[in-house]
Formats: sequence, structure tokens, C-alpha cells
Amino acid sequence: MKEKVAVIGAGIGGMATAIQLTVNGYDVSVFEKNDQPGGKMGQIFYGPYRFDTGPSVFTMPELVDRLFIRAGVNPSDYYHYSKLDQSCRYFYEDGTCIDAYSDEEKFTREVEEKTDEPPENIRTFLDKSQSIYDVTADLFMFNSIHDPQALLTKNNLKALLHFGRIDAFKTMHQANRKYFQSDKLVQLFDRYATYNGSDPYRIPATFNIISHLEHNMGVYYPDGGIYAIANAMYRLMQDLGVTIYLNHPVRGLITEGKNIRGVVTGSGEASFDYVVSNMDVNLFYEHLLPDHWKLKKLRKPEKSSSALIFCWGMDGTNPGLKLHNILFSNDYQGEFESLFRHKKIHPDPTVYIYISSRAVEGDAPRGKENWYVMVNAPENTGQDWEEMRREARRNIVDKINRVLETDIQKKIEVEQVYDPPAIEQHTWSYHGSLYGNSSNGMFAAFNRHSNFSRKYKNLYFTGGSVHPGGGIPLCLAGAGIVAEKISKNEH
Ligand SMILES: Cc1cc2nc3c(=O)[nH]c(=O)nc-3n(C[C@H](O)[C@H](O)[C@H](O)COP(=O)(O)OP(=O)(O)OC[C@H]3O[C@@H](n4cnc5c(N)ncnc54)[C@H](O)[C@@H]3O)c2cc1C
Repeated sequence: MKEKVAVIGAGIGGMATAIQLTVNGYDVSVFEKNDQPGGKMGQIFYGPYRFDTGPSVFTMPELVDRLFIRAGVNPSDYYHYSKLDQSCRYFYEDGTCIDAYSDEEKFTREVEEKTDEPPENIRTFLDKSQSIYDVTADLFMFNSIHDPQALLTKNNLKALLHFGRIDAFKTMHQANRKYFQSDKLVQLFDRYATYNGSDPYRIPATFNIISHLEHNMGVYYPDGGIYAIANAMYRLMQDLGVTIYLNHPVRGLITEGKNIRGVVTGSGEASFDYVVSNMDVNLFYEHLLPDHWKLKKLRKPEKSSSALIFCWGMDGTNPGLKLHNILFSNDYQGEFESLFRHKKIHPDPTVYIYISSRAVEGDAPRGKENWYVMVNAPENTGQDWEEMRREARRNIVDKINRVLETDIQKKIEVEQVYDPPAIEQHTWSYHGSLYGNSSNGMFAAFNRHSNFSRKYKNLYFTGGSVHPGGGIPLCLAGAGIVAEKISKNEH
């Protein structure tokens, strides 16, 4: 008889773990509190518009493909994606506009033309980012750093020998200052700290690997928008025979000594041989397995930032905008001080505009656009969000009008707002943080919760709040670690 696994949560990490364990011969059930899978990778329909409500940037698609290939099916029977020619269009307050082309030659030429930055500086920087990735990826991304046995492989020991080369002792901003002459380029590459909800002035420069993912490996986009990824994984789970319970919050666990015997839902109790939590680990120890000391330890590290998102159905089109657009703050350091020290949104925030209707026919009616307008927001510590939303909206509209020389107020036909409390409530993410702990500080990677419990033999953790962290690629890498551990009967 197959051993039974319960996965709590149908986020990307939960679904990827469920798929791999099913392929490895387990009988898997997934319990999801919401009426749709995907967790933070969500979508909404509003009037004639569709909006992705979570991730918008898709890197390392091969990690998604691998799930399908391992299941013996062709990924393209489930979803299609293509590489973008341009990852983003960047706007600065002085009127400079830089297009980040995927073609390195084209990008370096564009940058030289707009900022006088010599192309070789970008090449040197991107080569270095790649070399940091080559040293760190196996060690930190695809292995459990909490398990000495997994760490002590030949490859990992080699990587540890090269530790001095991974720029762990300076911040991303300090490193980028050394590579680039132009403040605009420093800001452009500092921005990647926000890809895991961190502060470029404090995150180790090791995280310049994110620039490698985007600039060397490329940014991709699925047909139908980002939610197509969640849909594809959901369909694969169904086809593999995973039992999926939507609208089924897990309310408790049944324990017996050093084992978890099963889960408790609104429909009763069910027995399992293994339990994998895809919940935010803080809330897991608050609600499912209350543990005061554990919580105290978990809450110490600084949390990643959250987001304030306005989904706007816009009358008319704006040819000056691309699929992904950034309007940079003129006070970048001040913006991160506001977010992490004062827990506020800066009055001149960096504004991100993602318009999926540029790529997906049907996401907006003809002659209109769906704007997902996001600013970095602090984690929810009980601020007056109504007031913060009002003030941020005014500042965002002013900034867009100023930088794009337009008047958008009259063009906003419909509006749906997501603030940190809404993200917290919808996905049960502690304080609405997008990526669990922040990566601010040299030892942040070691402060993440491990993928397995030290107390319970058959309890595992997957998803953005545990090792190796948040973002689609890391959640998928973490799912691989958990599936392998269970399948090899390792703990
Ligand atoms: C606004 C925003 C923008 C982002 N942008 C990007 C981006 O551009 N690129 C990128 O790579 N990443 C991005 N991310 C991060 C990325 O979306 C997440 O890291 C990733 O989707 C998290 O997946 P997860 O496996 O941790 O699960 P989550 O998405 O956190 O899902 C957990 C699931 O568990 C369910 N759940 C919780 N508790 C229970 C319970 N007790 N019982 C049953 N179900 C439960 C929840 O309802 C939820 O569905 C973004 C996130 C957000 C919110």
C-alpha cells in the first residue's frame, strides 16, 4: 500500500511538492483553504478585466518544466511560455528612460547611450553575478543547509572553499557602486534586492545572483498570464490523481509522541504517514502546532517587505509603457529606510506598472488596459492602512502623471486594491510579507526555518517562508528538497 502524505496549502511550493511525491509513488492529498489554488500566485476577474495579483516576473522556467518532465508528460501540453525581448522599461524623474533588452549587446548599447556607462562595466558585473550563482546555487538553493549530511558533498565542499568569492561581506549597493559609474545603473541593479523583499543597502551582494537570473538567463512570460503556471500545475496534480480539497483549511494536527498522525479539517480527522506544511511557518506554529519558544525564535529575524497593489482597468492605451515598467524613486535609500525602519510607504515611492493586456489578448477590452500598479510596502504591524492607502494612491497618481506626462485619474474605470493586511488574510502570510524573512544581513539565509522538523519525524516544510526562501524559483527548489528527503526517508 502507498504511504499517505498530506500537503497543507496549494501554493507553488505545496503543489510542486505534491506533484513530485505523487510521481515518487506516494498517495498525496492537498488541503487548501481558498477556493482556488496558487496562493500568492493569484488572479482576479473584475468587470471585463483580468489581473494577476501576485508574481509578474517569471525566471528559471526550466524548474517548472522539470515537474512535468518527471511526471512523464510534455510541459507544452499544459502551458506555453516565451522569453521576453525586453525585461523592463525604466523611468527616472529627470526624463531618462532605459529599456532593459534581453540581448546583452543591445542592452549595453542602450545604457551607454542613455548614461555613458561603458558596456564592459555591465559585462564584468554580469559575469561576476554568474560566477556567484555557480558557486552558491547548489549549496544554498538545491540543498538543505540544515542537514550536515546533505551539505557535505564534494560539490558543496568545493563551493565552501570559494566562499570568499561570493561577495558576502559587502552589501549589494556597495558592490554595485564599485561596478558602475552611473547612479542610474546602480539604482537599476540595486532594485533586484526587492525581488526577495529586501533592502539593497543591507542585503549581501551575494544576491546579485538575481541580476544573473534576469539578465543572463532571461525573463519569460506564459501565454495567458502568470496564473497560467498555477493552472498548469493544478491540472497536472489532477491528472496524476492527487486528491485536492479546496475550501478546506487545516485547523489542527494529531500528534503522537514524535510523530504527526494526521490533520484536522472542518470535515473531521484524517490519518497520514507524512505531513508537509506549505503554510507560512509562523502561522503554522501559531495555529496548528502552537509552540511559544519556536514562535519567539521565528519572529526575531526581520520580515521581508509587503506590497500595496492597485489593479486599475484603464480607459485608453499608453504606448509609452511596456509589459513591465518601473518609475524609480528619486530617494531610493530613503524609500528603504521608510519601509524597514519606519514601516511606512515613502512619499516618492518606486512605482511598478505591469500591464498583462500587452501580452494577453482578452485581459482588457480593445482600446483599454489592465494596470497592476505596485509599490513596496512595509510588513503589516498594525499601521493605519486606510490612511496609508489614501496617501500612497495620491503620491502614485502624481508620480505617474509627472513622469509619464499624462493625467491618469480620469482614465481609471475600475479599481481593486490589495494592501498588506489583504495579502496576509488571503494567503495567511505572517504580516503580509511576500517572501517570509528578509535577506537583510549576512546570516539571513541561515535564519530561515529548515525544510524538516527536528521534533517530529514525519513533518516537513515547503514554500517561501522556509529554506531556501520566496519567489517562484526558490519555492520550486525547496519543494525538490522536501520531496527528495521524504522519498529517501531522510530526516
Ligand atoms: C504581490 C506579489 C508579487 C510577487 N512577485 C513575484 C515575482 O514577480 N516573481 C516571483 O518569482 N515571485 C514573486 N512573488 C513571490 C511568490 O509569489 C511567492 O514566493 C510564492 O508564490 C509563494 O509560494 P508558497 O509555496 O510559499 O505558497 P503561498 O503562495 O504562500 O501559498 C500558501 C497557501 O497555503 C494556504 N494555506 C495557508 N494555511 C492553510 C491551512 N491551514 N490550511 C489550508 N491551506 C492553507 C494559503 O491559502 C495559500 O494558498 C510575489 C508575491 C506577491 C504576493
